[in-house]
Amino acid sequence: MIQFNQVSKRYPGGFEALKHLTFRIETGELVFLAGHSGAGKSTLLKLIAGIERPSAGAVVVNGQNLASITRQSLPFVRRHIGLIFQDHKILFDRSVFDNVMLPLDILGYDRRDAGKRVRAALDKVGLLGREKLNPISLSGGEQQRLCIARAVVHRPAILLADEPTGNLDRDYAHDIMELFKSFHQVGVTILIAAHDESLMADYGRRILRLAHGQFTQ
Ligand code: ADP
Ligand code: ADP
Repeated sequence: MIQFNQVSKRYPGGFEALKHLTFRIETGELVFLAGHSGAGKSTLLKLIAGIERPSAGAVVVNGQNLASITRQSLPFVRRHIGLIFQDHKILFDRSVFDNVMLPLDILGYDRRDAGKRVRAALDKVGLLGREKLNPISLSGGEQQRLCIARAVVHRPAILLADEPTGNLDRDYAHDIMELFKSFHQVGVTILIAAHDESLMADYGRRILRLAHGQFTQ
């Protein structure tokens, strides 16, 4: 489902954030990406999402080499991906419902069908009763759930999460992990990046470890 072949990423200015990475993630796998701040975790996720392009090597997602596809085909790749950003990117000028509706608007869903999907996604994360609220009134854990609802509302095959439990207490973090497990159980391929490995250890999944842009053991 996701394949990197000798992938490097050099940012403008010359900093090499990823160096010759080769790995693959199979369809339906749940994999963790560990490493300290600055190790290159976000950069790796951005390459999979097509937000950044590799400087060298091949990034193949769902059979498409993102290093060589045109800008016009990128939206078709993104359709299959759900992203949970580190900095949330919640819009506070609209309701919880409209935040989750946003990706469906962008993808051009029929409004009525979209409404059903938004409610199903909010139900899934336990926020159905709060759809009319402004997200500012949600707790930190609830805001994270909102982000997850928004990331899965278009039923992506791949879910990428950047530090999804970063600011949460351990109990809340486990709730969030249970949600990821429920998506994993229905076949979604999931990659979760985090600097804290203690939570990962509880789940017995493969852990990719990054340090200075390279894999370690
Ligand atoms: P992590 O997610 O593991 O904290 P990042 O992928 O965010 O790591 O960053 C890896 C390295 O790349 C860091 O040294 C960071 O400063 C650098 N970096 C990230 N984004 C950019 C950018 N847009 N321009 C230049 N350097 C960047
Ligand atoms: P429904 O079938 O009514 O949409 P589900 O309980 O199957 O309800 O799903 C609820 C929500 O969970 C969906 O709207 C979607 O956001 C998410 N979801 C469920 N299954 C998947 C899947 N296979 N891939 C991505 N997201 C999913």
